[in-house]
Amino acid sequence: MAKIKKDYYELLGVERGASTEEIKKAYRKLALKYHPDKNPGNKQAEELFKDISEAYEVLSDPEKRAAYDQFGHAAFDQRAAGPTGFHDPFEIFKEVFGSGTFFGDSLFGSLFEEAFGVGVGGKRGKQQRGADLRCDLKISFEEAALGCEKEITFTKLDTCPGCEGKGYAPGSGMISCPVCSGSGQIRSSKGFFTIAQTCPRCHGAGAIIEKPCLRCHGEGRIKQTAQLKVKIPPGIDEGYRLRLSGHGESGIAGAPPGDLYVVIHVMPHELFSRQGNDLLCEMPISFAQAALGGEISVPTLTGHEILRIPPGTQSGKIFRLRHKGIADIHGHGIGDLLVKVHVEVPTHLTPTQRSLLEAFAAACDQKTHPQQESFFEKAKRFFRSS
Ligand SMILES: [Zn+2]
Ligand SMILES: [Zn+2]
Repeated sequence: MAKIKKDYYELLGVERGASTEEIKKAYRKLALKYHPDKNPGNKQAEELFKDISEAYEVLSDPEKRAAYDQFGHAAFDQRAAGPTGFHDPFEIFKEVFGSGTFFGDSLFGSLFEEAFGVGVGGKRGKQQRGADLRCDLKISFEEAALGCEKEITFTKLDTCPGCEGKGYAPGSGMISCPVCSGSGQIRSSKGFFTIAQTCPRCHGAGAIIEKPCLRCHGEGRIKQTAQLKVKIPPGIDEGYRLRLSGHGESGIAGAPPGDLYVVIHVMPHELFSRQGNDLLCEMPISFAQAALGGEISVPTLTGHEILRIPPGTQSGKIFRLRHKGIADIHGHGIGDLLVKVHVEVPTHLTPTQRSLLEAFAAACDQKTHPQQESFFEKAKRFFRSS
């Protein structure tokens, strides 16, 4: 049941006299290392991630730290500290790094480096930034290749129009919290020591809403349907994430909004498939076209192109049409169109076609089918030597 708890200073690898900055630095380093997104399926990392969050939560708060220094883990024993427990480790991570920190190989995966490289960026206090949202968007193959603009509709917690996000009814305002008398904290004596807790009524703000807005019940935001035009850049591919900064949920009490992540899904195409920025089209040609050569019309994303095929083209041969593929999403040129021909053997021959083909076969010699000839030569040698 109760696991043996490791010392918070040891967990973060800092001295007992470490400064708040040193503690934050240690937490940042370890949190990035053990974040579950970076260690999928690793239970041990997940546990460590929780433990270091807890350690950081305590040691970064002067009051909690003082209590811990004096009483150790007992200071946060359920019986002593009340049923508050610790905060969600992901919330703590977000608070330290700012949200929008994503891992993974998306276009915006570099945010991870940004989060690491960017400084502390000032304290935001207890402001609660709006949540990030995810929205899936299905687009056609052509839309992905050529780019498009799409309108998406989604629901989110958005600024309440009844109170413009303030939370209080028009004509009223904020008043000092009657529970904590405006201090934001309440002190309770449990056993032999006193502990300060965040006021449950005002959540530490020290003030409460006098008359809550009837539409949002004081939260300042309500669930609303949002519509947004999204510009899809040409060359986008399956699984890309577009980040629309500030289009997530509204923050509480004027805090900044979260971001919206639009995840792209591309529907398959009947004629084309994609290899990086190259388009691949598999195209059947007739047996006579392959033997005689000629011009064939091949489809492209926007129309068609004439392709010259030489006499004696073999099945499986790939022809490359330069710059008829997909534009690179980062602007590094345009891919090619690869046309892979596939020679179709004639079926359902009429008697006339059949006799013509028989006459053709009779007129063939070694030169007509050089591959066949060389194969038989090799086979003969093989049987002689064995
Ligand atoms: Zn209060
Ligand atoms: Zn409202």
